[in-house]
Amino acid sequence: MSKKILIYIEKQNSVSEELAKKAQELLQNFDDAEIAGIAINAGLDLGSKTYFDKIYYVNDSRLENYSGEYYSKISIDLITEINPDIVLIGATSLGRDLAPQIASALQTGLTADCTALDINEDGKLAATRPTFGGKLMATILSKNNPQMATVRPHVIVTDFDVQLKDTEYIEIKPQIDDIKTHVKLLETIKKEISAGIEDAEIIVAGGHGVKDNLDLVYQLAEKLNGKVGVSRAVVDLGLAEASIQIGQTGKTVSPKLYIAIGISGAMQHTVGIMGAKKIIAINKDKDAPIFKLADFGIVGDALEILPQLIKSL
Ligand SMILES: Cc1cc2nc3c(=O)[nH]c(=O)nc-3n(C[C@H](O)[C@H](O)[C@H](O)COP(=O)(O)OP(=O)(O)OC[C@H]3O[C@@H](n4cnc5c(N)ncnc54)[C@H](O)[C@@H]3O)c2cc1C
Repeated sequence: MSKKILIYIEKQNSVSEELAKKAQELLQNFDDAEIAGIAINAGLDLGSKTYFDKIYYVNDSRLENYSGEYYSKISIDLITEINPDIVLIGATSLGRDLAPQIASALQTGLTADCTALDINEDGKLAATRPTFGGKLMATILSKNNPQMATVRPHVIVTDFDVQLKDTEYIEIKPQIDDIKTHVKLLETIKKEISAGIEDAEIIVAGGHGVKDNLDLVYQLAEKLNGKVGVSRAVVDLGLAEASIQIGQTGKTVSPKLYIAIGISGAMQHTVGIMGAKKIIAINKDKDAPIFKLADFGIVGDALEILPQLIKSL
């Protein structure tokens, strides 16, 4: 049985590589499998080995800045030509704009913001995402081809033994002369962004249970050379910036170590930490849902435990 996956390759974003690695795992049981990428002005190092079998690329000065109209036309033309079974795109600012334009033009379904991808027994993409305000996880199948999904960066991790491949690079000529764009880029305002929590190796996160003692969370993070994250309950109280909120409406993180302190473990929070390698939870309620996910749990009062822990480090 053959299966082809096309992945949108986004400039300077790890999500494309994460998706290509996951695609290798998804296609491991197909005799005739192909992982293709589409790269539009992505600044590729042509000729290098990648996790893709083929990369269709275009470099064109008209495509220097993202344009949904141009980028979707080029993507749709390629999809029509190569007919992939599955199209995967990062759930980034660009991907969230591009994916629905492609899906609606091709009259196919799109499962957005997925947290897990699988191939079911019928060879269909089984795309899982939170639903009903994050209370349930739904696995969604598409009736039409291509089956499309967007996935946030850092969510999909695979232990599969992935291979670097001798990638074939194929240049495509964009057919965009006839497109009348409705959007004109007037100015780009660069914003200085300090290194965020998305790439942190150690995160110490505080929740409502330690809302009045977040200084202890910061002290522990400093001792461990890690970054601080919080639950939405803390952000809603105005005690922390939304930029460090973790979860469904916050950041998705994949640190080597995640320490959740005074966080109950609501699904809207835990969808943001699925990629964490080790989770330690400190909570005074032994039945808190976070303990179901944690590798190590400490049942007790964080206000007693944290000062001792900080002192001992
Ligand atoms: C559409 C939607 C999107 C959402 N998005 C997000 C999101 O992105 N991120 C997010 O975090 N939430 C999100 N939420 C909110 C989420 O449902 C929870 O309400 C929130 O995660 C709870 O935060 P918490 O665990 O800090 O607080 P609580 O649920 O109040 O839990 C506090 C925990 O602290 C423990 N505790 C109390 N005192 C101590 C102490 N002294 N020592 C140790 N433990 C103690 C308690 O036992 C309890 O388990 C969203 C909700 C909705 C509806």
